[in-house]
Order: sequence, then structure tokens, then C-alpha cells
Amino acid sequence: MSAMDNLTLHKVRKDYGKVRAVEGVDLTFNHGELTALLGPSGCGKTTLLRLIAGLEDPTAGKIMLGPRDLTRQAAHQRKFGMVFQNFALFPHLNVRENVCYALTIAGVPKAQAHDTAARLLDLVQLTPFADRAIGALSGGQRQRVAIARALAQEPEVFLLDEPMSALDANLREAMQVELRMLQQRLGITTVVVTHDQREAMTMADNIVVMSDGRVEQTGAPQDIYHKPGNPFVANFIGRANFFEGVMRGGRITAGSLSLEAGPQKYLDGSPVTVVIRPEKACLDEVMPESNRVPAEVTFVRDVGPTRDIHLETPLGPMVVEYAIGEGARTFTRGQKTEVHLPAGGLYIYPSDKARAVA
Ligand code: ATP
Repeated sequence: MSAMDNLTLHKVRKDYGKVRAVEGVDLTFNHGELTALLGPSGCGKTTLLRLIAGLEDPTAGKIMLGPRDLTRQAAHQRKFGMVFQNFALFPHLNVRENVCYALTIAGVPKAQAHDTAARLLDLVQLTPFADRAIGALSGGQRQRVAIARALAQEPEVFLLDEPMSALDANLREAMQVELRMLQQRLGITTVVVTHDQREAMTMADNIVVMSDGRVEQTGAPQDIYHKPGNPFVANFIGRANFFEGVMRGGRITAGSLSLEAGPQKYLDGSPVTVVIRPEKACLDEVMPESNRVPAEVTFVRDVGPTRDIHLETPLGPMVVEYAIGEGARTFTRGQKTEVHLPAGGLYIYPSDKARAVA
């Protein structure tokens, strides 16, 4: 592996007429790593992937692979492997022929193309299906054919656009793990578009969170989860409760409440947006004196090992994830209680309501 072969984007922009789909994107995709492009519908993920593939020309900016400038290179010259949302397989060819197709077109001798296809079909566990028609395969099997086909030409970069979206929930989880193991075994630089944060967390070395054509944050999944750079990211990766406040004497004031704020430094009088994750708020019987907020239970939802307790508080509605175990409290609708918001669990951001709601 070499950092020389990193895929880099420099100030990449893409306009479709008046629509700015991607704006000022600077990114490094590390060699051999899997990066997930994550964001809500319409944020520019697919456009960015298509720019990397060479299926779209950037309006401005540069795309490099190591020292090679790819910006004006056509898609077929880049030879990146690509798996599309609907897999885009050739329905009139069988499994083996689908995998061989690009090799045959490129003039690879038939026997050699067959050997490559056999190796790849083995890799994606489809050897017994080599002679099957595409129409006689399940969604998961089709996806594996698409992956094998994309890998046939030994691409330097592997691009996948929502590769799991056609699969049902169970198969999707299994394929996420399988795809990740395959990618790690091959050590191939991979970019996956997804709008599913769990999928991104499961598969990626790095996550790029996008909104409105821009990059909001990049980082390892755990870093993004535990250190979201802004309320949008906090809300998009994992669950988040929000409330507004003002900093006074190092504390957060919100209505008649005054809460300890932890070590983050803000100027006195600054309006702030505060985020707390449902698993960080606490409803234990015994709780510290500080940062207690009165609450009324509005709804209780069992979600397996934990229970979501929905609360109405002076800070607004809040959801708390409560572990069900020995000695756990029971909660019923209408019950009055207190919720503890530990200072260490509060993420504080300069107030920007528009972004928080986005
Ligand atoms: P989704 O998750 O819904 O697929 P996305 O994040 O992949 O969304 P893109 O498909 O990249 O988003 O679209 C980004 C923006 O660019 C959207 O506003 C979209 O309407 C616009 N757009 C995409 N392709 C075109 C096109 N060919 N012509 C005009 N506008 C386009």
C-alpha cells in the first residue's frame, strides 16, 4: 500500500445548469480503505461517485489517483470497477459470461478470461451458479455477480452506488459483512454510496457525511459518532436530542434551568444548540444532584434489550434509551420523573437553528 496511490479530490464542483449538486469538495480516499459517502437524499453522493468514475465531468476542480490527473480522463480509461444500484447486469448472458464480458471486449484470450471468472466466482461463492441465467438468481446472487464483474479487470478503485438497496434487511446485513471482508482481503480502494448510517458504520474505515452538495465531516465511524462536528452530523449519525440554550458563566441556561457544561469553552451570552444522545441521558433511580431536569413520560417503546422512554421536559421532547435489566425501573405514560443529563454527554455547538433542523 502506498499513500502515493490515494484518490484525491481538490475543490471539486458539479453544476447541472443552475443546480449545484456538489460544491467545494476536498477529500482523500486512502489507498486500500473503504470510504462510505453518507447523506440524505439529494445531497450529491451519487454525483460525487459518478465524478470519481468519470461518468460526469466536474464543472471545476481536480481528481487525482496518486500523481495521475484523472480529471479529463474518460470513464473507460480510468477502468474503475463500478456496481450500480440495480446491478445493471446483462440479462441475455449467464453468470460466467457477465463476469467475462469486459475481459473479452478488452481482447483477453477466452481461456484466460474463463480462469479469471472462475477465480472471481469462487471469491463471491457463485461457482455452482456459473451457467445460470441472470433471471434465475436471487437479489443477493445478482449483487455478487455485479461485484465479480466489477472486479474482473482488477480495478485500482472500486465504486458502489447503494449496493444493498435491492436486498431485503437480513440479506443486506449479511452482504455488508461479506463485501467488507472481500474488500479487506483484496485491499482495494473502495467508495460506497449509502444513505444508511448503520451500513456505513458496519463497512467503512472512513465516513464522509454530506449535505447540500458539501462535506459536513469526515472521519472514522466511531469518531464521527462520538465527536460529531455539528448538529446535522449528530442527528444523521445515531440518534440525538436537541435543545437551545445560552452560555452564562460556563453553564448552559435554558429557561429556568442551569446546567453544567463540561470543559467546552464558549463566550458568555453565546446562544448554543445542545445535543445529547438517548443512551447518554440517565433515568436511574439514584442520580447526581447536578443537571437534573424534570420530565413526564409520554410514551414507552420496547426495543429488545433497551427501552425507549419518551419524555416531555422544559427543554422540549426527549428520548432516553434505558437498559432493561435486574432492578430496572418501570415507566408508564403520565409518570413524573427526573432525567439526568451528564455534562460529559452534552455536545455544545454555536446556535444555528436552521442547520439543526435540516
Ligand atoms: P439519492 O440518495 O436520492 O440518490 P444523492 O445524494 O445521490 O441522492 P444526487 O443524485 O447526487 O444526490 O443529486 C444531487 C443533486 O443534483 C440533486 O438536487 C439532484 O436533483 C441534482 N441532479 C442530479 N443529477 C442531475 C442531472 N442529471 N440533472 C440535473 N440535476 C441533477
